Amino acid sequence: MNFEAINEHRKTFPSKEQVIKQTPDPGVRQMLTHLDKAGIATAFDRFDAQKPHCAFGLAGTCCRICNMGPCKITEKSPKGVCGADAHVIVARNILRWVAAGVASHGSRGREVLLTLKKAASGELPLPLLGQEKIVATAKAFGIYREDKTVAQLAEQLADLLLEDMSRAVPAAHRTIAAMAPPERVETWSELDIIPLGSYHEVFEALHRTGTGTDGDWENLMKQLLRCGLAFSWNSVLGSSIAADCLYGPPKRSYIETNFASIKAEYVNIALHGHSPVMPSALVQASREPELIELAKAQGAAGIRLYGICCSGLSSLYRYGEVHPLSNALGAELIMGTGALDAWVADLQDIFPGIMDVAACFHTKVITTSDSCRLPGAIHIAFDHHHANMEQILDKAKDIVKLAITNYPARQQGNVYIPEVSLEAEVGFSVENITQAFGSLDELAALIKAGKIKGIVNLVGCNNPKVVYEQAVVQVADTLLANDILVLTNGCASFPLLKLGYCTQKALTKAGPGLKEVLEARKLPPVWHMGECLDNARASGLFRALADKCGQPLTQMPFAFASPEWSNEKGVGAALSFRLMGLNSYHCIPAPVLGSDKVAGFFAHGTQELLGSVMVVVPEPTALGKRIAADFEQRRKHAGWNSK
Ligand code: SF4
Repeated sequence: MNFEAINEHRKTFPSKEQVIKQTPDPGVRQMLTHLDKAGIATAFDRFDAQKPHCAFGLAGTCCRICNMGPCKITEKSPKGVCGADAHVIVARNILRWVAAGVASHGSRGREVLLTLKKAASGELPLPLLGQEKIVATAKAFGIYREDKTVAQLAEQLADLLLEDMSRAVPAAHRTIAAMAPPERVETWSELDIIPLGSYHEVFEALHRTGTGTDGDWENLMKQLLRCGLAFSWNSVLGSSIAADCLYGPPKRSYIETNFASIKAEYVNIALHGHSPVMPSALVQASREPELIELAKAQGAAGIRLYGICCSGLSSLYRYGEVHPLSNALGAELIMGTGALDAWVADLQDIFPGIMDVAACFHTKVITTSDSCRLPGAIHIAFDHHHANMEQILDKAKDIVKLAITNYPARQQGNVYIPEVSLEAEVGFSVENITQAFGSLDELAALIKAGKIKGIVNLVGCNNPKVVYEQAVVQVADTLLANDILVLTNGCASFPLLKLGYCTQKALTKAGPGLKEVLEARKLPPVWHMGECLDNARASGLFRALADKCGQPLTQMPFAFASPEWSNEKGVGAALSFRLMGLNSYHCIPAPVLGSDKVAGFFAHGTQELLGSVMVVVPEPTALGKRIAADFEQRRKHAGWNSK
């Protein structure tokens, strides 16, 4: 391991003080200062308290897989007790992260698939709002029959997607066979990385990384690629299909965002997490006239919903009334306003730290999933078997009532809401982008002509290892100035929403070609596609445009960028796009630097296998410039107009 490089890396981690000075959202700056004065600690304080970070953890060379360890790789001890070297230890650690990502998105997706199946069979009182999606997907899977009802098709689709999740007996992966580009399927088949099913590949990843099983770092990387395909073609795409079939497709709309969209005179409810199931029911419950009347009887003007992280975003683009406030890392800052009467947490990216901030106010935290419990929270949830799902609407009403009855306990004198808000446009999808351009041929022609130099899916969670939200904004600025269109979703989309990038006013940041194209169509330069599962929408757009251009994805000026990533799911998301033949770009390295072989596999080893690599450039503007330069290379190779 290069200790010098790790040490230099550690020195770049900002302090909370630096974040307060440099983070781009003035609302975040005000709120961090306010909480600092009030003595309320957040993730930024806890990050400072962790310094200096463990060098072995940063390099990936700490192994805790068995109880002969923990073992760490040093000059004095180049192998663990079992004989595993740095390459095997680093490979096992990163494979376990990717497997955890498959499980995270997959577990959430399973809840949506179960809901779709139960709604289709009539077990749940929920309508199927994505009828066109059900028919189109049934046709793609080759199961469409005119004598079947839409509900029957939906149930069959749910079963097929659940089978891709849980297959144990080797057979074809139905989603990959139906929907993946043939050129990619051929590549993956040659590499022997097509997964059996998500459960099996996670099972197998945990198996082969166990003590004394797979001692070959390259074979471990092969399993990492298999997990990457399970992640993208089942955990993400399967979940996205199910959600669209059940809740309908996104709609383009405008919404007020950031702190000042919190109105102190309302009963305020935050939706935090990733599953759309309970949040959808909560939106419905908050519209119930009897509950609105109850809120008014308590002295409130009505009921208002807010989005934290992804379940808020997916509710927003379908129902239009959930104000997006913050990603997971900033959730405690929203809690710190003291203006939330209920905080509904479903699953994933719900840091336990929110409970300490909630304890300073009247805010009641309600957990709704058996997977995610928080000591001190009220639990109104689906059980482990999802056997009580038919009570979903009653549970949602109970939660809204709880918020209403908690409203009088709010101490308005303790409420602090920075006066910062902006409108943003959300809800972009392949379908409505096609409508905006008349056809995707038109958008493809503009890319070939060089009016738009390329498209980047700018996403990912945040990480206090860099100044909060700054890298995302600086990368976006650089891309737009270089005529590169930006798609966004999930945690990274919050600074772009809050700082005006999702409005036409931000066209002032765009280069001349991009500006001309978007101004003529009244479009913003950053297209908000929703929550982190909506990487599936970006991937679908990339694939459709590559088909229109008659080029393989490996030759297209498209990319994935997650400058500030931190989550296990983030490794899987970036890997998904590399498996499609598109580079991924980041400011923060993965913990693989302790093995030159594994680090080399990520940085250049996959070029020959997949036609893509992982690029890490710590400085955000330089990262944006690197993407623009790489796009120029791809454009030149395709014989398209470049500089
Ligand atoms: Fe150490 Fe090997 Fe056990 Fe890891 S698996 S802790 S390297 S003995």
